[in-house]
Amino acid sequence: MTPRALGAERFVPPSEDLGRLREASETCEGCDLFRDATQTVFGTGPENARLVLVGEQPGDDEDKTGRPFTGPSGGLLDRALDQAGIDRDDAYVTNAVKHFKFAQLQEGGRRIHKKPTRGETTACRPWLIAELNAVRPELVVALGATAAQSLMGPEFRVTTQRGIVHDLEFDGLDESTSLLATVHPSSVLRLRDSERKAAFAEMLVDLRKAAEFIGAEQHH
Ligand code: SF4
Repeated sequence: MTPRALGAERFVPPSEDLGRLREASETCEGCDLFRDATQTVFGTGPENARLVLVGEQPGDDEDKTGRPFTGPSGGLLDRALDQAGIDRDDAYVTNAVKHFKFAQLQEGGRRIHKKPTRGETTACRPWLIAELNAVRPELVVALGATAAQSLMGPEFRVTTQRGIVHDLEFDGLDESTSLLATVHPSSVLRLRDSERKAAFAEMLVDLRKAAEFIGAEQHH
């Protein structure tokens, strides 16, 4: 019988060293998602980043490269950050869930992204909290509902609460910080051409608020 997943907690070392955390995450078996994925996709970016971007989970490309946001949604995110005046290299980029969840229609066939369950997101949250404790950012930008709900609770609605700076306090989070939510870049990519432009522009409005917030903090 498969043992019941207990979450990542027992795999997370008591460390604020991102290198150590990343290494430990490679052998995480905190939920069943490690079984079929290629590798753990841990966050990347400077340890003193003032901004942390949190997506949902790695996709097909990220599962292969081992780095977050390297696929098509990463391309869209790069464009959006660039236009919002945020340098991606200055941000720490990660996901709420560190293993790719997918369905494979046939042997060797294309792998289709599957949304992680709340149980899987909860199981993986200790890694996200450990990353936040290591980086101690001024602002967390949650890209999409999975990331936002992982940190703000299941009642959080991106549709109505996006683009606003919220206080982020969490059990296990050493220092309170702030959070702003926007949509996930893949949700923009999934739209029809006629709707995509407006959705991208709305995402930009949110990201510019994030850039403004960070800029304002810098001048305090
Ligand atoms: S998804 Fe997260 S909790 Fe589940 S095995 Fe991977 S790293 Fe561990």
